[in-house]
Amino acid sequence: MKTKNIRRIVISVIIILAIAIVTILAIQYKTNPSVSNNQKVQVVAAENFWGNIVSQIGGDHIEVTSIISDPSTDPHLYESNAHDAAALARANLVINNGLGYDDFMDKLLSVSHNDSRQVLSVDKILNITGDNPNPHLWYDILRVGAVADAFEEALAAKDPSNTNAYKANLTTFKNSLKPILDTIQEIKTKYPNAPVAYTERVPGYLLTAAGLDAKTPTGFAGAIEEGNDPSPADTATMDVLMTNRSIRILLYNAQATSSVTEHVRDLAKQAGIPVVGVTETLPKGEPTYQSWQLDQVKSLLKALEG
Ligand SMILES: [Zn+2]
Repeated sequence: MKTKNIRRIVISVIIILAIAIVTILAIQYKTNPSVSNNQKVQVVAAENFWGNIVSQIGGDHIEVTSIISDPSTDPHLYESNAHDAAALARANLVINNGLGYDDFMDKLLSVSHNDSRQVLSVDKILNITGDNPNPHLWYDILRVGAVADAFEEALAAKDPSNTNAYKANLTTFKNSLKPILDTIQEIKTKYPNAPVAYTERVPGYLLTAAGLDAKTPTGFAGAIEEGNDPSPADTATMDVLMTNRSIRILLYNAQATSSVTEHVRDLAKQAGIPVVGVTETLPKGEPTYQSWQLDQVKSLLKALEG
């Protein structure tokens, strides 16, 4: 009889313990909707500039894979591969630019099922609408802070236990944009409405923020963006901007070049117009989005100073 009682007590204790463990696990699962304790949030960014920003906010608590990161190729012409699909299959959070810049992501996401995965599109975060909007949203430095806010919010929702770290990193990131914003303001104050040109509308939002007047024919910039040859009329208009010295600076996209853009660059050089290089993606040798953008705006200011 005695041993039977002890056995009964032991079984009861085991059952109570089992219920307690299941309850604790259930509570933890609720507060950690996607990642369990000590597991890093898996983030896939379509482009390395967004990947760099989200990795600064996530710090050690996340792992980031950036798909487009080759500085020597034109991102508009990127073709995805099986490696990209595999990264998306294990992602908790996916970041797209949108606006046709990374349509390949939609195709990859549609064939890779993953219920716990959240997809953030920067065009939706910024609520970009209209006909043929400029897709180079990471040059809209005045609004990059709002994009970072959305990244922080998504990470905190995926991994609430590290919310304080994400919040602190967000503040650090936003503060570090100040030298870039100050330089943009300096250009705006010193060179109001100065005429400039670009080979592609990569720095379009930056030029608007800096109060500069982009003179490139829309058709010319559009054709270069799509990897086509501009019309003879648009090419002639662009050439005349250089030969007549109608612009102060040529901003040259070093990542989408052709014989047409090289010709324009040569004409600018011959006319004594400073050429400032800009790139689509974060180049090798630039540790952060901010260091890259600061270098570019400083080069622009220096070129305007002459
Ligand atoms: Zn582009």
